Amino acid sequence: MTITAPAGTAHARTTRTVLISGASIAGPALALWLHRYGFAPTVVERAPAPRTGGYKVDIRGGAVEVCRRMGILDAVRTASTDMEGGSYVDERGRTVGRLPAEIFGGRVEGDDEIMRGDLARILYERTRDDVDYLFGDSIAALHDDGDGVDVTFESGTRRRFDLVVGADGLHSHTRRLVFGDERRFKRYLGAYIAIFTAPNRLGLTRWETYHARPDKLVSVYATAGESAHTAKNCFVFASPEELPYDHRDTGRQKELLAEAFAGDGWEIPRLLADAADADDFYFDAIGVIEMDRWSQGRVVLLGDAAHCASPASGQGTGLALTGAYVLAGELAAADGDHRAAFEAYERLMRPGVELNQRFAAGFAREMTLSSRWKIALRMFMVRTLPRTPWKNLIAKKIRDDLQKAAHAVPLKEYGRHAAV
Ligand SMILES: Cc1cc2nc3c(=O)[nH]c(=O)nc-3n(C[C@H](O)[C@H](O)[C@H](O)COP(=O)(O)OP(=O)(O)OC[C@H]3O[C@@H](n4cnc5c(N)ncnc54)[C@H](O)[C@@H]3O)c2cc1C
Repeated sequence: MTITAPAGTAHARTTRTVLISGASIAGPALALWLHRYGFAPTVVERAPAPRTGGYKVDIRGGAVEVCRRMGILDAVRTASTDMEGGSYVDERGRTVGRLPAEIFGGRVEGDDEIMRGDLARILYERTRDDVDYLFGDSIAALHDDGDGVDVTFESGTRRRFDLVVGADGLHSHTRRLVFGDERRFKRYLGAYIAIFTAPNRLGLTRWETYHARPDKLVSVYATAGESAHTAKNCFVFASPEELPYDHRDTGRQKELLAEAFAGDGWEIPRLLADAADADDFYFDAIGVIEMDRWSQGRVVLLGDAAHCASPASGQGTGLALTGAYVLAGELAAADGDHRAAFEAYERLMRPGVELNQRFAAGFAREMTLSSRWKIALRMFMVRTLPRTPWKNLIAKKIRDDLQKAAHAVPLKEYGRHAAV
């Protein structure tokens, strides 16, 4: 890999050490860029190894361009979910309507969709030879004395870094250590989501099946990379109040999910029962992180840790990738002045983040519908959409809104970024 200096950097940079907490999307993407600009990144990840699996995430607009500049776009395309489309079914499993994947995803030519774990693997494989990865560890404490940050790891190791970046997700540990309790920053959007790998009970191939009930939505999908025998079961339910439970208590989360869907028909009892054997069970409130500032001293937040836009936005991965690009580029362009870099990073990212979060709040309200007649109306629209003369106009409206959000972060030319 060639180390490239961004425009405006006339001399070779003195190496600066950066600790990044979190090795999913934002962390390794930042590490890739920092290494390319001559920094020395270290990534600490709580999980014992790179976390595979997960759910499908969109790569649209600016994120596609960032992947191209990172040199990973071909690998992303190879790992595409390659979904053909999806259908809505009624209580008796009869298909009400079918839509192609582009309309569901609001995608245009060049956009793609990939499993989060596949993208994390691609980023890890591209960086592991150049970046120091510490798996199975976490920051226990940090002290910023103005000239550097002393970090104590849970393993007991102590090290000093020039900068620390919290890329450790919605429930960021770094954010809690430096900025305070998550409740100060999280805005609940009124629904819960659960997803896990299960037997492919509906026999799906590159297809997603949805079933809507009042205040609930169930979907099952199998992507191109899924084995013929497995699928993802996904459940969303509205809840006016946040539910009290321990984030580490998966057993209790499975109970809450079962309670929410108790007595429901279609395939729901069988799909729910599969949660018992799932070892990748995910359950969380749908919410956004809103902060006045993303940095304090020599510590800065990135990706979901800074500004989670929630699964409802379909844009969290894109924001993590573009944020990593902008943060690294500004750090390099400021030639060591982290204050100037953090300020520019926020100024460039914030309008796009806020647009995506507004979008998420609106979409979260529409993910589930509160009554049978609203569901019937949506099913009517899904059924008639392919035949309506306004089909293209409606599809364009969905696409244009998503595309505006996906292109909302300006991507400056930080030097010869394409040299790999
Ligand atoms: C069900 C679901 C569906 C989604 N669908 C989409 C979609 O369609 N499109 C889209 O763009 N986005 C989607 N998202 C959002 C997307 O997954 C996130 O926005 C994206 O993964 C953010 O990346 P990140 O690297 O900032 O954080 P994360 O992916 O959350 O990664 C955080 C990393 O930090 C690690 N970590 C946590 N605590 C510590 C600690 N104490 N020390 C060290 N490491 C730690 C975690 O193990 C993890 O590896 C979805 C999310 C969910 C949950």
